[in-house]
Amino acid sequence: MLKVLKFGGTSVGTLERIQNVANIIKKIKDEGHDVIAVVSAMSGETNKLLEYAHSFSKTPNPCEVDMLLSSGERVTSALLSIALNEQGYSTTSMSGREAGIITDSLHTKARIEDIDPSNLKKAISDGKIVIVAGFQGVTQDTNRVSTLGRGGSDLTAVAIAGVIEADVCEIYTDVDGIYTTDPRIEPKAKKLDKISYDEMLELASLGAKVLQNRSVEMAKKLNVNLISRSSFTPEVEGTLITKEENIMEKAIVSGIALDRDQIRVGMYGVIDRPGIASTIFTALADANINVDMIVQTRGGDGKTDLDFTIPRGDWEACKKVMARFKEEAEKIDYNDTICKVSIVGVGMKTHTGVASKAFSTLANENINIRIISTSEIKISMIIEEKYAELAVRALHSAYNLDK
Ligand code: ADP
Ligand code: ASP
Ligand code: MG
Repeated sequence: MLKVLKFGGTSVGTLERIQNVANIIKKIKDEGHDVIAVVSAMSGETNKLLEYAHSFSKTPNPCEVDMLLSSGERVTSALLSIALNEQGYSTTSMSGREAGIITDSLHTKARIEDIDPSNLKKAISDGKIVIVAGFQGVTQDTNRVSTLGRGGSDLTAVAIAGVIEADVCEIYTDVDGIYTTDPRIEPKAKKLDKISYDEMLELASLGAKVLQNRSVEMAKKLNVNLISRSSFTPEVEGTLITKEENIMEKAIVSGIALDRDQIRVGMYGVIDRPGIASTIFTALADANINVDMIVQTRGGDGKTDLDFTIPRGDWEACKKVMARFKEEAEKIDYNDTICKVSIVGVGMKTHTGVASKAFSTLANENINIRIISTSEIKISMIIEEKYAELAVRALHSAYNLDK
């Protein structure tokens, strides 16, 4: 079999852990499989490098940020390759560029446009274990190093697995699979044997960073056999992320996600004229700001209030855009002490009363809901951040996910 394995930051967080990863790879190689391993930077490294950049500038040049951040993954790929080599295995490490990962020019959140697998294929056919530095590629237009957004090593692994038609893509992390909610918040969370691509995509997009959302999207598109498992207990089977039709028992609610990475932007007393929302949200989109939940409340006297949420990382960029609308609103403010809790489940499509249970559960805990949004398979609510963990646990129990 051809296996793509990905090891996240904690799994390669120390030299001993890199050795542990080398042992996992050795075992799989000895069983007769071909291996491409994708690695993250050592845990904390990417944040440390970002802090360095921000010590010089609030808005560092994204192209330079990518040059800086991509170094973290290169360090681990080389170290892992050296460790395996020392044990007598033939290995080669590759940067994103060498692995043929070609992206657009949207630095710090670049999209993969194409993968040229020739170097990867050649190394595999030479019998080598390939170690790829995750999270990075090279821009098609400008030939510069780019990065794929936070958590992007997952995407590197899935994209390579898809293009090279690997038999499986195993994402090794510090938990042994996908749980009904973050087991660090709710110890009663239960591990799932299987979860559908769509549910996993919602959970990941709504804050469960155990898999990067774009990697799940790509896995679905390319039909990649995706497994989430632990490098600390590699003998334990993980969770399979698969097509909905492969899952026999469909839960109404499969999981609860928490996203603390949101900022609420409030625009009050905006002149209520046709096109105003379009003007504001087009300007935000042009600045590549991901606006998430939007609520408009119609006030009196031709004025309206607009509330929306953005990722914390886009805050400075958002302020810049908002400055252009100062004249249009009576007041613009920002609230960074909010969070988003979400309930996800494919069974919601066919069951009623799921939303009302969420609202009454939070009401019983005296938690005020600021914004609500729903889709076919999810309900999201913006609440005060101080209630985050309480809300997750209350909802987890309300939907019997601990049973
Ligand atoms: P890595 O560094 O390996 O990429 P991450 O920190 O990105 O790992 O993701 C793993 C973490 O995701 C876990 O430690 C866990 O706290 C968190 N997590 C959030 N939601 C879930 C969930 N539903 N199931 C499992 N883990 C989750
Ligand atoms: N090192 C990058 C990050 O911390 C990418 C990754 O770990 O997947 O976001
Ligand atoms: Mg991750």
